Amino acid sequence: MSAKISAHTLLHSTVSETTRVGLSKKDIQLSFLEYLYYGIGRIPEVATPSDLYTALALTVRDRVFRRFVRTTGAIAEQDVRAVAYLSAEYLPGPHLANNLYNLGITEQTKEALRELEIDLEGLLEQEEEPGLGSGGLGRLASCYMDSLATLAIPAIAYGIRYEFGIFDQSIQNGWQVEITDKWLRFGNPWEVVRPEIAYEVKFGGRTEQITDEDGRFEVRWHPESVVKGTAYDTPVLGYQGSSMILRLWKAEASESFDFSAFNLGNYYQAVEAKMASENIGKVLYPNDQALSGKSLRLKQQLFFVSCSLQDMIRLHLLQGRSLDRFHDKFAIQLNDTHPSIAVAELMRILVDQHRMDWDTSWYITRNTFSYTNHTLLPEALERWPISLFQTILPRHLEIIYEINHRFLQQVREHYTTDDSLISRLSLIDESGERYIRMSHLATVGSHKVNGVSALHSELLQKHVLRDFAELWPDRFCNVTNGITPRRFLGLSNPLLAGLITQHIGETWVTQLDELIKLKDWAEDKPFQQRWKEVKLSNKQALARFIDEHTGVRVNPNSLFDVQAKRIHEYKRQHLKVLHILSLYLQLKKGMLPELPAYTFIFAGKAAPGYFMAKLIIKLIHAVADLVNHDPDVHDLLKVVFLPDFNVKNAQHLYPAADLSEQISLAGMEASGTGNMKFALNGALTVGTLDGANVEIRKQVGEDNFFLFGMNAEQVQSMKASAYQPHPIYENNERLKEVLDFLLSKKLTQGDSQLFKPLYDHLLWQDSFMVLADFQSYLECQEQIGKLWLRPEEWTRKAILNVAHMGKFSSDRAIQEYCQLIWKVSPIEVK
Ligand SMILES: *Cc1c(COP(=O)(O)O)cnc(C)c1O
Repeated sequence: MSAKISAHTLLHSTVSETTRVGLSKKDIQLSFLEYLYYGIGRIPEVATPSDLYTALALTVRDRVFRRFVRTTGAIAEQDVRAVAYLSAEYLPGPHLANNLYNLGITEQTKEALRELEIDLEGLLEQEEEPGLGSGGLGRLASCYMDSLATLAIPAIAYGIRYEFGIFDQSIQNGWQVEITDKWLRFGNPWEVVRPEIAYEVKFGGRTEQITDEDGRFEVRWHPESVVKGTAYDTPVLGYQGSSMILRLWKAEASESFDFSAFNLGNYYQAVEAKMASENIGKVLYPNDQALSGKSLRLKQQLFFVSCSLQDMIRLHLLQGRSLDRFHDKFAIQLNDTHPSIAVAELMRILVDQHRMDWDTSWYITRNTFSYTNHTLLPEALERWPISLFQTILPRHLEIIYEINHRFLQQVREHYTTDDSLISRLSLIDESGERYIRMSHLATVGSHKVNGVSALHSELLQKHVLRDFAELWPDRFCNVTNGITPRRFLGLSNPLLAGLITQHIGETWVTQLDELIKLKDWAEDKPFQQRWKEVKLSNKQALARFIDEHTGVRVNPNSLFDVQAKRIHEYKRQHLKVLHILSLYLQLKKGMLPELPAYTFIFAGKAAPGYFMAKLIIKLIHAVADLVNHDPDVHDLLKVVFLPDFNVKNAQHLYPAADLSEQISLAGMEASGTGNMKFALNGALTVGTLDGANVEIRKQVGEDNFFLFGMNAEQVQSMKASAYQPHPIYENNERLKEVLDFLLSKKLTQGDSQLFKPLYDHLLWQDSFMVLADFQSYLECQEQIGKLWLRPEEWTRKAILNVAHMGKFSSDRAIQEYCQLIWKVSPIEVK
């Protein structure tokens, strides 16, 4: 009997529910103890919490791998098209609890451990989440992996195994301090290294044009350095069924450069070259900071994209398929422009390495890639100086020139001879120092380009990529973002999930539209009562968490008003601060008879080099110090900054919020996903008509959403007529009072210049128009305060919000990608 047959028989036989992968309490207990004794070499009496965590993680990992092996087996058997998701960021959050949830073994695991006098909650706290992303974009990629796995779509996700992920945020004296995230320090039980899956990636040097014996023209690239990427695989488990793989590349020195021979007598130089290779995967650069000069970032991009493409081609050829069918077997999604160098890299591999002709290669490339745009902020649109490209990626530069040359020639022949339009379409920005426009490369090299909310896709086609949308209207589409209901409701809000399941059954977990059945319960008094109890209980838990982490005592009966997201001027945390200060100043004057008790909660990291965002964090702390300690306030207002916003902490926040702050300047937030997570957990939203807020409002109904501020069109026309904040300030008493207070010694403990940069900015040059929306925001908040004093009405609206959130499941989003863009179907997993 061959090894293949016996393995197959074993996996599919009825005895396969062995102790090693069994799901009963007894099996879990035995596996756990075996790992503790023989995997780690510990007895329970002396095991550290980290030992116990690792033993449990390995126990669960076996069960995850069982599913994983079954899925890969099914993919190998069925000759299907697969999705390859390329993303420079992932933000998976803690694995253990999610895997228990998706395996459906949380209860028996808790019980198995309890019998050993071990507390599961305590072990879950041990896990450090992989900080491989900075915010929404990385989290979206992770929600999509959850849905791809749950829906049994054949898929692989590729990225970089950063050694230092997103920094940990600590606060000292009100200022953000960045601490390196050493997430790998205790090892990572969720990944397996695949040393045999490794590829070389070339950098620098020069190219040489030659004509071979057969008269065939070709280009040879003589690189200056070579880096090796090795695969590290993390299985990602879907809900009760299938799974997929996250393959991250670790950068290492390549053995093919024989350092000792090359650098005879220069050992240290050789070692330095080795270290330089390893540097490529060291650190994640946050994506909300301009990084145009960072050559390491460009190297990271080519590094992971090249390893991933080489891997796909290996898999493709391994199946005995011909390369000219590559696009039939892989649909590659570019998650923003970060991986868009893939367009040039695939062309290079096909033309230079596989000697395919240009036109066939280009046909394959365009039919393989599709591109998701994530931002309208001009400063966030990636572009790289030509000079940098020339040094680091000389061959890719030539290929991009060739793509551009052919593209513009086509445009001239079939579309326009208008030189200004042609220079706007060009992949090269020649208006000053010459740059490569990565979003143009991605658009030209893809067959579909999508935005991430209805409004964003519309603005994309009207402004940022307008010329392309006119040239190729069919290439553009929309897929509104979504979030996974497993992690963001089932796992992180078990009380609400339980209440919902009790009343409408549990199909919502994979069919979120089912939530609509809650509509029938919105008026039901006993149900409202249970709903309120659940929310209160979540708020009490958050209050304990806040006390532990900040020492601030908050009242669980107060209105929890939460703004949790990256700190950025466009997201306008400072608008929220002005509202709080305004309430405070009114209160001091005894002018607020009917004020509800509020707890304002902020959380979020600022990019390390973003001065204004860091000053806003300092401002929040200054306001907290003032308000929280003023006896006149009588605990009616509390301000909290919860440090180190990440997925783990976010899971405490979303379930406990009453009010979700989504107050970006209209036209700036591409979609947002925090808005969806809050609403799914029963928070009401105060927001502008921006990103997915527009669609959330449409779903939940105008009456159940607090709208304020200018819309995107009004913002555009105000920008065009040169926005003038100063007159707004002069004509609004409350605004003037609040803004001037930023310079008050009461707020700044003597240093009245501390917030002057922010003050001046808001008053003279603020591109995010905080003052223009201030009055409208204040009035909206007054309505919110009034509604809070009618708790039945508030709860009814909260229930209706949840009932209408079905659309925002990442399952729906992935199904749209499958039908509209990838043309991929689920596999059958037995
Ligand atoms: C959802 C999420 C985000 C995105 O929040 P937005 O409000 O959409 O900006 C960022 N960080 C974490 C940890 C998240 O879970």
